[in-house]
Amino acid sequence: MPERKLTLAVIGTGIAGLSAAWLLRNQYRVTVFESQSRAGMGVHTIDWTSRGKQSRIDVPLRIFSRGYYKHLLALYEHVGVKILATDHAGAFADGDGDMLFHYGNFNIGGQSISYPRGRSLFDPHAWKIGLQGRRFFARATKDMKNPGTLSDTSFGQYLQDSKAGPEFVDTVLLPMMSVTCTCDYQAVRDYPADIMLGYLTSGVQELGIMSAAKGVDDIVPRLLDGVELLTDSPVAEIRSGDDALTVTVAGGDSRTFDHVVVAAQAQQASAMLSGFDAQKQLLDTVPFETSEMSVHTDESLLPGRADQLSPVSYHIPEGSTRSEVTVNLTRTIARLNDQDTVFQTWNPIRDPDPDKELARVSFTRPTVTQDSRDAMSQLRDFHGQQGNRLWFCGSYVADKIPLLDAAVDSSVAVAERLGVPIPWQSGAAD
Ligand SMILES: Cc1cc2nc3c(=O)[nH]c(=O)nc-3n(C[C@H](O)[C@H](O)[C@H](O)COP(=O)(O)OP(=O)(O)OC[C@H]3O[C@@H](n4cnc5c(N)ncnc54)[C@H](O)[C@@H]3O)c2cc1C
Repeated sequence: MPERKLTLAVIGTGIAGLSAAWLLRNQYRVTVFESQSRAGMGVHTIDWTSRGKQSRIDVPLRIFSRGYYKHLLALYEHVGVKILATDHAGAFADGDGDMLFHYGNFNIGGQSISYPRGRSLFDPHAWKIGLQGRRFFARATKDMKNPGTLSDTSFGQYLQDSKAGPEFVDTVLLPMMSVTCTCDYQAVRDYPADIMLGYLTSGVQELGIMSAAKGVDDIVPRLLDGVELLTDSPVAEIRSGDDALTVTVAGGDSRTFDHVVVAAQAQQASAMLSGFDAQKQLLDTVPFETSEMSVHTDESLLPGRADQLSPVSYHIPEGSTRSEVTVNLTRTIARLNDQDTVFQTWNPIRDPDPDKELARVSFTRPTVTQDSRDAMSQLRDFHGQQGNRLWFCGSYVADKIPLLDAAVDSSVAVAERLGVPIPWQSGAAD
């Protein structure tokens, strides 16, 4: 008699759940639970019609870089997701809209080279910021050759100890990293220094920024191929039984599985667990922040004319805890290039004209502190226990900034523990 395929539930369809389901689908009978009515990664994608053409806009836009996103890029390449280079050069303006620092990028042979733009070309203050930035990256690269020396140091402490130039830190570095990590400046400072520097020294600037050419609509179906997807199925409880785990959907059915991979965010995962007190306690250490994203056509949120600015505009009012960041989507997403100009603003400090707003979405995102990092290391230790059936995937689980790559990293780690070869590592067939 053929051996019964073990059953496995994946809870959540962000990139962590999708990649886990895809990796595990051949060796396990996979059922995916998603609380939303569509797979989570594409749940906020909207239609955009202008100049007689209809396109899809992912909310939020997701970008990545070659140096930092090894797992994500390997997965995308393996399943055939086409990627494109995208320009993410920035313009940094103060609260009155006066330009503090403005740079552009050009690409040569796979390298992205930055240069000062507009007034910054002749502005001594902008040159000072640029030189402080160069010194910061040179020092960070040297320090990351021996990251052990940074253990227990927060990024804020590192900036102080390394005497990083304050104009560069306040005008460029903190605003850039607060949008990358979707959190306020203090949370950026609270990150462990080596995690933050690992990202900053991975070549994000030099190797350029990329995005999926056709957006999330091209990613989700590829990763859900061959698995059972249950949408509108918010999991309310995961309980341990005899040699199995029981998954109960809110107001609905219970099903038992040999294994359960929880791929919701930490606080959502914690709320599902019945028993598992030690894991719950660890999950509860993960800090998170909530912020808003607006998609709109209101050019007045920019510190200048859209056609004279680099694609990413930072608005940094004095005393604010986060910057407001507007991305010109028409410039950064190739499939929108021939349509009317449309923007995405993270943390809108000023509201766009309501008649020009296409969507507004609130997002919650984990951050990392030394305490949460230690707790996640202990959570990963549970995966090594004999007979473990409960697994955790998600951007918060890996020892990195909680970005797309961390999420895929965490599902690769779980798949390996479950004895599944990773196709791009082993050359194994799909
Ligand atoms: C505004 C913003 C911009 C970002 N931009 C980028 C970027 O450009 N590049 C990048 O690398 N990263 C970016 N990120 C981060 C990236 O989006 C996350 O790292 C990634 O989404 C994490 O994936 P995940 O699968 O761990 O979690 P999530 O994407 O949060 O997925 C969790 C899933 O679980 C589902 N779920 C929750 N509770 C339940 C339940 N009880 N039952 C069933 N399902 C449940 C949710 O509906 C969701 O689908 C951005 C984040 C934000 C907020």
